[in-house]
Amino acid sequence: MGRPALGAYLDALVAHVPVEAGVARDPIRFPLRYLAPGDVEVAGAFAASLAFGRVDLFGPIVDAALAEADRRGGPAAFADALVDGPDPTAFADLYYRWLDGHDLAEAFRVFGRARRQAGSLGACFRPGPARESLGAAIDTLRGHLPPDASRGLRSLFAHPADGSACKRWCMLLRWFVRTEAPDLGLWTHLRPADLVVPLDTHVFRVSRFLGLTRRASPGWAAAEEITRQLAVFDAADPVRYDFALAHLGISGACRGVRDAAVCPGCPLEPVCRA
Ligand code: SF4
Repeated sequence: MGRPALGAYLDALVAHVPVEAGVARDPIRFPLRYLAPGDVEVAGAFAASLAFGRVDLFGPIVDAALAEADRRGGPAAFADALVDGPDPTAFADLYYRWLDGHDLAEAFRVFGRARRQAGSLGACFRPGPARESLGAAIDTLRGHLPPDASRGLRSLFAHPADGSACKRWCMLLRWFVRTEAPDLGLWTHLRPADLVVPLDTHVFRVSRFLGLTRRASPGWAAAEEITRQLAVFDAADPVRYDFALAHLGISGACRGVRDAAVCPGCPLEPVCRA
């Protein structure tokens, strides 16, 4: 199968995956609730930070945290109010995996400190290739962590130089840089062409089925390699395939193995090597 033909199948997948139904079970639904850019940024950064594990597990925690932030003026006002000192009453009863309520509030505090220093979260990301842009932003955000930050809190700020795919930060960049639905096009100083695909388990698995990578582990190198392959089909916007690829798995439509019950209806079936 030639490369152009693969691009046509990917386009068919994008047309096949319903955006509205996908958004309902995607963490992008959290920033989409807000209108003010500061609230959109902070809600998005918090939701993306917690986007590990299953969405039905971390989603209720994000919901509860944002409900409390809303009671305190909204995500941006809540983050800004924490800058000068932690609030031990915030999220006292919340936890997710290895993050307790204090860690969750400290994440908001990091975003508040970055906003005070740079004016917005978006301003922490300078234009340029994702490795440099994201790396510099993570350096900045790490600089706002408290000296006694827990290991769990530090793990939210993954850096490309560590080899991590930085899926949650690449996802946030996709949300805020791309303009096509469901993405929000908020950070207009950055270019979709510079993004790297947010490499979760679903996207990595299907990428291997399509021959977009042969790597065994989903790290930064694999994310860049898959992005380069996708750029063959759309150099200006290589991660436009991400939502559809991810939701093949999230929706349960792709079971990760050949399955006579579902594969015949999959737009990628003729090019899938599963
Ligand atoms: S053809 Fe089947 S295994 Fe391959 S991507 Fe589609 S649903 Fe998944």
